[in-house]
Amino acid sequence: MKSRRARVNLYYSHDINDYIKALRKKIRKIKSLKIGSHKLKYKNGIFPFIRIASREINPDDPVLFITAGVHGEETAGPLTILNYLKEIYRYAKKNKVKLIIYPLCNPSGFSQMTRYNIDQNDGELGNNDFLRYEMVDGTMKDDIKSSNNYKAWHWSSDITKDLPQETKMMHYLLKKEPLLQVKALLDIHQDYISNEFPAAYHYSFGKLGVYRKIINHIKKIVPLYKNRLIDAGFCEVEETGERRHEEDKGMMSDRSGFVVRHDGTLPDLFYRFGVPYSITAETMGSMPLNEAMKVNIIWIKGLIDLIKK
Ligand SMILES: [Zn+2]
Repeated sequence: MKSRRARVNLYYSHDINDYIKALRKKIRKIKSLKIGSHKLKYKNGIFPFIRIASREINPDDPVLFITAGVHGEETAGPLTILNYLKEIYRYAKKNKVKLIIYPLCNPSGFSQMTRYNIDQNDGELGNNDFLRYEMVDGTMKDDIKSSNNYKAWHWSSDITKDLPQETKMMHYLLKKEPLLQVKALLDIHQDYISNEFPAAYHYSFGKLGVYRKIINHIKKIVPLYKNRLIDAGFCEVEETGERRHEEDKGMMSDRSGFVVRHDGTLPDLFYRFGVPYSITAETMGSMPLNEAMKVNIIWIKGLIDLIKK
């Protein structure tokens, strides 16, 4: 078949300097967005921690908060933000929703395509470590599955010093954000661990029926990873890449591909703050990047629809 030259030139590199250059170039053309950067100092290098946000966020504006690239090899999230920034911005503007985006939550991992950072420091409990549950007997847990049986919750940075640099930075920056105005959070991931057919699934909390329209839309692009045992990110992985299947570590997804799991991650923290819509989007690593990006865009637009004034 004769190939036609694609009109849209999508960007697929994980060269961090190229990525940031391309991102800055795009943002220069969108006057209502601003970009800021903090420095992450690792033993093995210095990396920028990027924040993109609407220039003007008024006290009654609903905010969509997006995080991507927490796990470095999961590049579909950061690439979705870069490739679709204009579309995301336009859709948010049309619906009077403001944006706060951390497109590269683990920049050194992104640059070398590793789950954790360049120092190979994954802290006490990985780099998506945001809250701890204090149980009735005083012990602390980071994962209480679907139970709500706990005495109190705490920021994990108040409980442990052993957090990776990028997680520490996020804790620090979150405390300056207008968190009470955040009406939806999307944390974009990919699943390179389950190693299954291209499919999508999602973590969330509360009433899941509100996402029906979004799920129906996703289903048109890829199958849902539904009624499956999901233990990615919770199972032990051997050095050979072989997974140790431990049934008690996994949880079943429902018929829409949802897993409800209070696992101490950023979306779990936002849920505890009272953010109405808190989602972790997962697409299988086996899915072509452009399809994974399409699923991510469905989530972004769908969440904007849910929180618009
Ligand atoms: Zn991930």
